Amino acid sequence: MNSRAMTARPATVVVLVALFPCFPCLIGCNRTDSNQKTPTSETKRALVREIADKYGIECDFPNAPFWIAFDQRPITGDPIERRNLNACLSVFVEEFEMYPVSLAAKSGLKRIVFCRDLAIAGEPKGGIAVAQTGTMYLEVPQDSVQERHHRWSIHHEFFHLIDRSESGFDARWCALNSPDFAYGSRLLVGGDSESFTVTGDVEGFVNLYATRSSREDRAELFAALVMRSADVQRVCGKDARMRAKTLLLKEHLAYLCPEMSEDFWSTIGRVKRTTSSVKGD
Ligand SMILES: [Zn+2]
Repeated sequence: MNSRAMTARPATVVVLVALFPCFPCLIGCNRTDSNQKTPTSETKRALVREIADKYGIECDFPNAPFWIAFDQRPITGDPIERRNLNACLSVFVEEFEMYPVSLAAKSGLKRIVFCRDLAIAGEPKGGIAVAQTGTMYLEVPQDSVQERHHRWSIHHEFFHLIDRSESGFDARWCALNSPDFAYGSRLLVGGDSESFTVTGDVEGFVNLYATRSSREDRAELFAALVMRSADVQRVCGKDARMRAKTLLLKEHLAYLCPEMSEDFWSTIGRVKRTTSSVKGD
C-alpha cells in the first residue's frame, strides 16, 4: 500500500538498473556518504542521524534508481529531488520520534528508504514494508495532499512490520467482524485512495481500504489512531465493532511493548505537526 496518482516508471530505467542488481550499490546510505555534499542543512541531517542512532536504524537516500527483487515483483524507485529533501526529513522526524525505541526494536525495523516513484511491479505505491529485511520504503511527497498521505503511510507501513500476525490474535481480530463479512469482498471504487481517512462508512472499519484484509484493517486503524484519534473516537461512539477492535489493538500493542500504554495514546493528541512545507505545493 498506498496509492499515488503517478504514471508508471519508464521501462528503460528498470532495464538500466537491472544491470546492477547489487542492493548495497543501489542504495546510498546518508550516514556513510560523508564526502558527498547533500542539499539538506546540517541541522536536518543531524536530526535524522539522531533519529537513526536512537532507533538503531539506517535512513537511506538512494543516489541512483534502484530495482530490488521481491517475491517475484520488483520494488523500484528513484532518488528524491533535492528541493523535497528538507521537508521530507522534517515530516519523518515529526511522525517517527513519538515511538518508543522498544517498539521499533520489536518491529524488526532496520532500514528506511526514502525515494520517489516508488512502485512494486510497476504499480505506484506510497509505502512498502518488507518484513523479511526489516525495510520500509517510503515515497517522498511532492505536495501537501501527498504529504498528508505520506504521514499516514509512515504509520501504516510501520505497523505492518509490528504486526507479525500470530494466528491466535488474527482469529480474535476477525471474530470482531460481522459473521457475514469477508475480507476482500468489498469493491474499492477509489482503489488504494480509499485509505488515508476515517469515514466510518462500513461498520467495524475505519475506511473502505481496511476491508481488504485483516492486516490492512489493523494497519489502517493504527494509522488512524495516530493521525486522527478524535475521528476514531467519534466513530467508536456509535460503532461497537470499531470500539472492540480499537481496544484489542491497543491491548495487543501494550502486550508487545509495555510502553504502548494509555500514556502513549494520550500524548498522540499533543503531537505538533507543521503545516505543509513541501515545495511545489
Ligand atoms: Zn498496507
